[in-house]
Amino acid sequence: MRKYHNAVGVAAALRPASPVTLVRPHAADRAARFFQERFPGLCMYAVKANPSPDLLRTLWNAGITHYDVASITEVRLVRSVLPDAKLCFMHPVKSPEAIEEAYFDHGVRTFSLDTMEELEKIVAATTRDGAAAEDLWLCVRIRVPSDHSELSLAAKFGVRAEESAELLMAARQASDALGVCFHVGSQAMSPAAYTNAISLVRAAIVSAGVTVDVVDVGGGFPSVYPGMDPAPLDVYFQAIHDAFEDMPISYSAELWCEPGRALCAEYASVLVRVEQRKGQTLYINDGAYGSLFDAAHVDWRFPVSLVRESASEEDLAAFDLYGPTCDDLDHMEGPFLLPADVKAGDFIEIGMLGAYGAAMRTSFNGFGASETVEVEDEPMESLYTGERPSAEVIPLTGRS
Ligand SMILES: *Cc1c(COP(=O)(O)O)cnc(C)c1O
Repeated sequence: MRKYHNAVGVAAALRPASPVTLVRPHAADRAARFFQERFPGLCMYAVKANPSPDLLRTLWNAGITHYDVASITEVRLVRSVLPDAKLCFMHPVKSPEAIEEAYFDHGVRTFSLDTMEELEKIVAATTRDGAAAEDLWLCVRIRVPSDHSELSLAAKFGVRAEESAELLMAARQASDALGVCFHVGSQAMSPAAYTNAISLVRAAIVSAGVTVDVVDVGGGFPSVYPGMDPAPLDVYFQAIHDAFEDMPISYSAELWCEPGRALCAEYASVLVRVEQRKGQTLYINDGAYGSLFDAAHVDWRFPVSLVRESASEEDLAAFDLYGPTCDDLDHMEGPFLLPADVKAGDFIEIGMLGAYGAAMRTSFNGFGASETVEVEDEPMESLYTGERPSAEVIPLTGRS
């Protein structure tokens, strides 16, 4: 992959007419090492946030050995890039073919589920010649609120804690190891999301009277975006650690997490070009069907910066953005703050797009293509450089 110092260097060298993805392997490496060192349990990477093989190798080299996959295509991909990775199939609604291939061809042993039907499906798909699998790790997905999160994951999956006893007991019977898992929603802005969820799960386990081998607190760990400035991750880790230690099964159970966003948001930015300016609206060459799905559909604000050899002297002004397709929906409301003299032909770097950015890109209307290059400078924001005022390291107490 070609390497440059920063976005200015890329713009000067390539004058790219299509969006270019700028990747920062050092930022993903730093995030992975942070989780490895400071999360008080096992950290697996949720592949859907960004399935790029280069990123997968970076995370593996930083010590991430477990990968949360949700489709057979993700299973095959991670297996081919990282032959020794442990894969956990954490989508609660899978096809029988996907389960069978994952189990028999790719060595997957961990599956999540939230209904009796899915449990029966997993058992059937992993039975051969009348012999049921004896090495399944089954994680029952419990429904928890998304109250503290920017993107809800509360409606689609999960058995209600108060209705989970029967399923927990049945999964216990069918498994070698039993887990409980949940997802508090993406970009959880308060550690209370996790402590509330753990109390729900605790009640479910107690009322079912089962022993549990794994408590998986899922993803949802935040990154930094304009208008979203979460507490340092150590505060989340401490809260999770304390709530987990209070569970009756903590002495024998493992604690897992499945971050997607927090491991890769800082990994990539995108260099786009302004094709036209109309007042405070900029028409750029990437958008809702490219790497800016969240900016368009859930009004996510990403940091932007004007990429010029010599910085503009103008004050910042608020802009909204249109993407390149012919669709009205291809609109990013922002506001995006750029120097007031931004004009057609200028390049803009849009930051923090490593998670749910390039992964969502389509080729709708013929605008899909994008080159990827490596840059060495720091991401526009970081939870891991210790430079944010709120990011001073808070000591973890009582960690086992
Ligand atoms: C999406 C997802 C994740 C990752 O969520 P983030 O908010 O990106 O951390 C983890 N686990 C499951 C089951 C998911 O669906």
